[in-house]
Amino acid sequence: MTSFLQDRENQVLTKGKDFRDLVGGKPSVAGSVSQRACVFCGSRVVLYPIADALHVVHGPIGCASYTWDIRGAMSSGPQLHRNSFSTDLREKHVIFGGEKQLYHTLTHLIDKHRPEAAFVYSTCIVGVIGDDVQSVCRQVAAEKKIPVIPVMSEGFQGSKKDGYKIACDAMATLIGTDNSKEISPVSINILGDFNLAGELWILTEYYRRMDVQILASITGDGRVKDIQNAHRASLNVVQCSGSMMHLAKRMKEDYGIPFLKVSYFGIEDMSDALYEVAKHFGNDEIMEKARILVKEELQRLLPALEPYRKALQGTKAAIYVGGAFKAISLVKALRLIGVQTVIAGTQTGNTEDYKLLKAICDDGCILVDDSNPVELSEFVKQTGAHLFIGGVKERPIAHKLGIGFCDHNHERKLALAGYEGMLNFAKEVYETVTSPVWRFMKHPA
Ligand code: SF4
Repeated sequence: MTSFLQDRENQVLTKGKDFRDLVGGKPSVAGSVSQRACVFCGSRVVLYPIADALHVVHGPIGCASYTWDIRGAMSSGPQLHRNSFSTDLREKHVIFGGEKQLYHTLTHLIDKHRPEAAFVYSTCIVGVIGDDVQSVCRQVAAEKKIPVIPVMSEGFQGSKKDGYKIACDAMATLIGTDNSKEISPVSINILGDFNLAGELWILTEYYRRMDVQILASITGDGRVKDIQNAHRASLNVVQCSGSMMHLAKRMKEDYGIPFLKVSYFGIEDMSDALYEVAKHFGNDEIMEKARILVKEELQRLLPALEPYRKALQGTKAAIYVGGAFKAISLVKALRLIGVQTVIAGTQTGNTEDYKLLKAICDDGCILVDDSNPVELSEFVKQTGAHLFIGGVKERPIAHKLGIGFCDHNHERKLALAGYEGMLNFAKEVYETVTSPVWRFMKHPA
């Protein structure tokens, strides 16, 4: 059995063996080499997909390069968000302050790129030297007549999850500042889909078939004007609840907009999402359109999945992802294609999320919160997993252990949402698990 840092004992359990709850939402234990990123990174990834805004990282160049173009965040129009502008703070700024540098960087970039808004990210060193970022932003906003929004995301404040909340608060300052978009009475905002590989466009097509208007896709292919109008939608549909629940709750309080938590991954959750949205509007026509859509998609998808399901019977998978909702959807989707989940963990799940995750996993599955490479490697060896599903930091763990890897995070190029996404996922799992390359490994799993 693997040994843990004593302070992490209640963040790991084996279902069917340990009859307690997994505790989530704790700060990382010092020395545990957590897979979590910093506060600034959390804010940056949430605001990053706003494609017609300027994103300026106020700090040393390293913070900007660390988050430069690390996500798909595809845009159907402007690509300004993909730049990682930095004030490039040096020793002299640490001694004399970086406010002038920030002012010049912002005014120069706004004149050059004419963005609809600007976000200014405060990093660790800015928190230490005490630059008045808010006042510089106010000054530039008044001069340039665009919203210039400070994002007070100094990395040392906490973890990536704290960065999500700060980004939601920054975004909330834009919401409710314009009323010019035409809206239908059946309109939604999409929160928490990051359009990494075009997923948003799949969802847009589904909602179009149901005659539901997407007023603002806040975190994917985002536009400043849409976000400014987002307070006028009838419903917020939240996918990545870890990053976006704070904004959904704020919009409920400030504008009375209800929200639904959904997942667009896997057949069951995708269909539930469409039905739940239709149910919210209490409109028989929309519900009938949702039923027709699901029926047509399943008629196409189920026969196409069958060969993968047969070939993958007996395969064991490890999951370590950002949020718990994604992990829950993955367990269900893997089961559908004959794959058993033997490790399920997340960076940002909370205790309630883990109760749901535990309920759907099989006995023997190891559940883990805020893990690290040593633990994850041990769990893979212990369970004999054939496949690891995770993000950029889990890829080397899988490859070093000689097992297949499937990217379910920033870097992927294949859309995994919706019905076509499920087929892409099955194909990818099949191809990595059955790849001939594993024959050449010294100790294949
Ligand atoms: S921890 Fe601080 S210095 Fe490091 S990337 Fe985050 S903000 Fe920058």
